[in-house]
Amino acid sequence: MSRYIGSVCKQCRTEREKLFLKGDRCSTNCTLEKKRGKNAPGQHGARKSKMSDYGKHLREKQKAKRVFGLTEQQFKRYFEVADKLPGLTGDTLLKLLELRLDNVVYKMGLSHSRKMARQMVMHGNITVNGKKVDVPRYEVSIGEIISVKEKYKANSQLKKLMESPAAVPSWLNFSKDTISGTIIGEPLKEEFSHPINGQLIVELYSK
Ligand code: SF4
Repeated sequence: MSRYIGSVCKQCRTEREKLFLKGDRCSTNCTLEKKRGKNAPGQHGARKSKMSDYGKHLREKQKAKRVFGLTEQQFKRYFEVADKLPGLTGDTLLKLLELRLDNVVYKMGLSHSRKMARQMVMHGNITVNGKKVDVPRYEVSIGEIISVKEKYKANSQLKKLMESPAAVPSWLNFSKDTISGTIIGEPLKEEFSHPINGQLIVELYSK
């Protein structure tokens, strides 16, 4: 399945929840906070029907998929990996998603959104332990140092972002001076990017 290329705000309207898919811009000009945006998209979007049990499970999976900008296939692969690892599959799944390189770049405050972070990675502007890594799904490990290429440090958008760096989660140690971050631990459940119930996703795939 291909990547979604429609309006990202429509995805939030479908979930009836702010997913912050436009990053910073979501705090100031959110469609969902306007009258028209409160309804789900489409002709029957204003209808408030009771959600089925299956619907609740499905929505949770769709939410997670949308927050991290993954296709159905990519998301299913993450689930399959998480299912084979020890621990609670739902938590492991969300932890794996947090450890994606594009998510880490976003969390470090180097981009306005995950979409922009993915582009930065794909364009070869991000390094891991000093070496270029242009694969957004790259899974970072404890001890690795994520940085931007020397040339990219002069980028005007990055410079602006670095004027007021975002708060980073406790598992990341970020230095504004070197524009680099070290992974110092595993992502904590309380600090996951979005309140997603991993157990509902597990139950969906187990049906
Ligand atoms: Fe979602 Fe952001 Fe659009 Fe609001 S502005 S609907 S949070 S993508």
